[in-house]
Amino acid sequence: MFGTQERPSEGSRVALLVPGSEAYVDLVIALLADGVFPVPLDPALTRAERDRILAPIEPDLVVTTQEQVDALLAARPGRSRSLPRGRPIHCTSGTTGTPKGVWSGLLPASDAAGLVAEERDLWGFCADDANLVLSPLHHSAPLRFAMGTLLAGGRIVVPGKFDPEVVTRAITEERPTTMFCVPTHLQRLFAHWEAVGVPDLSSFRLVAHAGAPCPVSVKQRLVELFPAGSTWEFYGSTEGQFTACRSEEWQARPGTVGRARPGRTLTTDDDGRIWCAVPRHARFTYLGAPEQTAAAWRDTAAGPAFTVGDVGRIDDDGYVHLDGRRTDLIISGGVNVYPLEVETALREVRGVDDVAVYGVPDPQWGQRVCAAVVGDVAVETITGHARRVLAPAKRPKEYALVPALPMTATGKVRRDALPGVVAEAGR
Ligand code: ATP
Repeated sequence: MFGTQERPSEGSRVALLVPGSEAYVDLVIALLADGVFPVPLDPALTRAERDRILAPIEPDLVVTTQEQVDALLAARPGRSRSLPRGRPIHCTSGTTGTPKGVWSGLLPASDAAGLVAEERDLWGFCADDANLVLSPLHHSAPLRFAMGTLLAGGRIVVPGKFDPEVVTRAITEERPTTMFCVPTHLQRLFAHWEAVGVPDLSSFRLVAHAGAPCPVSVKQRLVELFPAGSTWEFYGSTEGQFTACRSEEWQARPGTVGRARPGRTLTTDDDGRIWCAVPRHARFTYLGAPEQTAAAWRDTAAGPAFTVGDVGRIDDDGYVHLDGRRTDLIISGGVNVYPLEVETALREVRGVDDVAVYGVPDPQWGQRVCAAVVGDVAVETITGHARRVLAPAKRPKEYALVPALPMTATGKVRRDALPGVVAEAGR
């Protein structure tokens, strides 16, 4: 253990439990440049969650205040904005349980330098860029965008905890050129703009969304509002990035999340699970979880391949279409039901703002399909639509109108929390 007045030694691990800022990204870059492993974590974690996550990481230092960030930066001579050589450890969102520490899920390069260089080349980050940071920086995608921008000589704008009004002001005042967001951000911004008007968005050259399925109506509005050619979707996870997709490709093949990025080979197995083959050196492990690591990897003709449990299909031209996650699968009367497919169908109903589908134990069917709906809509309208577009086994047997869906900090629905939210709404 060392103090924040000293420079952490090469190979040590520094856990970061502070809100994102430009200094935060500078510190990550500085630590990586020194061969130190930064471990960005959610500052809102409870003590118990933090202890559980930190146990296998065994950090040498835990940074919990902005003063410590400043002291660590001050302990270095000058600002480092050269490409880092270490590896960050990132934690997954915990959508399927507890967040998992991912040791070096860096594809196709084996270090952060390669990862950041790949992002810079793909998105064309340059000195003229101003990256608007909407997601928490302890997640890998927003941090990669921010690091890539700073390392290219650009600047980042960090408005803090997501608030549509504050973000709209930042767009007007700071004239950002890029932003990474999750679909929930777009939904909330568009709802706000309905009320106050759409700000001038002409400064944007790149708006990329990922992290969760994007409803068609949101995607269409995105393409309408932002400058032509600026809107992208990509599909990735903390473990690695899989695809990138221009809006024109999506419009030609609605629902696709794009084709494999260079250096990856994507395949599906008999269960529809998506596997990503990577060069041998790009293997990652889940910290302190050898069984999860073993289950994530297998050998294929194209090299070692891993899965994060997503299920989908890859068409003849290599475009990936996601059906959901293996762990979300509901088996009702022996029929496999993917919540994403049902949700996509139910979102077509006028008045449905959002919907999440989940399974509950059922003595007769094994599991019963249920839906939590946000919106101003009659349940009969939804059931009528479900009867028209979904096979009987996929139709929810119970609907609950709820004020909001439970979300992770990264804008993903927490399916495990849905029964509780539904019970609460029914009280
Ligand atoms: P945990 O593994 O701890 O449950 P998590 O998988 O949610 O957490 P992340 O790595 O942050 O953690 O999220 C990656 C997942 O997000 C992907 O595996 C996929 O299910 C989903 N996802 C990412 N991009 C897209 C996209 N464009 N469309 C639909 N889903 C996406």
